[in-house]
Amino acid sequence: MDLLDTLTAKGLRGEVPTREEALAVLATTDDELLDVVAAAGKVRRRWFGRRVKLNYLVNLKSGLCPEDCSYCSQRLGSKAEILKYTWLKPDQAADAARAGVAGGAKRVCLVASGRGPTDRDIDRVTDTMAAIRDADPEVEICVCLGLLSDNQAERLKAAGADAYNHNLNTSEGTYGTITSTHTYADRVDTVQKAHGAGLSACSGLIAGMGESDEDLVDVVFALRELGSDSVPVNFLIPFEGTPLAKEWNLTPQRCLRILAMVRFVNPDTEVRIAGGREVHLRSMQPLGLHIANSIFLGDYLTSEGQAGQTDLDMIKDAGFDVEGAGEATLPRHRADVAEAAQTAGGCGSGASACGSAAPASVSASASACGSGGGCGPCGGHAHAAPEAAAPESADDELRGDLVKVRRRGAGTRLAPNA
Ligand code: SF4
Repeated sequence: MDLLDTLTAKGLRGEVPTREEALAVLATTDDELLDVVAAAGKVRRRWFGRRVKLNYLVNLKSGLCPEDCSYCSQRLGSKAEILKYTWLKPDQAADAARAGVAGGAKRVCLVASGRGPTDRDIDRVTDTMAAIRDADPEVEICVCLGLLSDNQAERLKAAGADAYNHNLNTSEGTYGTITSTHTYADRVDTVQKAHGAGLSACSGLIAGMGESDEDLVDVVFALRELGSDSVPVNFLIPFEGTPLAKEWNLTPQRCLRILAMVRFVNPDTEVRIAGGREVHLRSMQPLGLHIANSIFLGDYLTSEGQAGQTDLDMIKDAGFDVEGAGEATLPRHRADVAEAAQTAGGCGSGASACGSAAPASVSASASACGSGGGCGPCGGHAHAAPEAAAPESADDELRGDLVKVRRRGAGTRLAPNA
């Protein structure tokens, strides 16, 4: 297939495809699916070998958010029966983080619901990072607190944070249909603030909210243009009690095509299968490892994942290795560019990328957070979905039985799943 030969050749050179080529990946048929996975797998192995980076979510503050992101179980007015609690104490968060690291996680992701942190919240997270580093000096820490104000990214960097997560989630054109309390431009601004302060930018998307193929391609090119070092790909978890509870638009095949498109556009960037992996990829999860080089271990922010040991077994059975603490995640040339951009105080780590093929509009305004399960992967569109073509092979069936609210780990007396 000419398309896949072209995409493979470009990916092996670290080049970004055209927008038309990215759209064509999403339009491939089920008969072509294994060829698509194999082509994306060649690109994945070129830059990341057979390593799988494990990330572990700690929900520092759950629920009760004043924002209205319609995909999110923690949103204003959510009826989802999730855990609700205010800030964990540093030692509580460190205990949860330690369980994740013991389970094989290289990065801990500290997430709190809310529009954005106060300066007091930055102090709390500073204390929490110190408690985590007391036990695990080498662990990578990514922080996800929503929209940042001036100097907050610099304070987090000075306190030892390695990365900041803030997802764009969907295209600029559809952002207003999923959230009314902040804008796409607000989100872009926070990613740029984090990057400018020298934090590695983690920013991704949520698929399955009724968006079109064009929306998916728009947001993925926008992430490339922003220079995101890691791209979490969330598949909407349609929580009962949120506006998107009925949005079961994804099939395992569709998820694999989306992952492949993200990989081709971000050949040398960390691509992470984030929230919704178990719910939507289901028994096809191991195929996803041939495309993505990173996953979350265990549970998400407000929903449960499969057992951490099952994640580890899956990685081993599929012939991959858990990335060790001493191994670099990004290829050297990407790390060099990221460091240079951070030193210069600007964004744009995308080595060969920044801008390449598509005119991704990384313009303007938004606020949020969004790592693995919560501030990103849990929700859907509040208002009517844009003209969103129903995915060609959407599940007709609502599978609410697959969504399991988290009842263990952070904020409970039960041991974390790691
Ligand atoms: S995604 Fe983040 S900002 Fe939006 S409702 Fe959820 S917790 Fe609040």
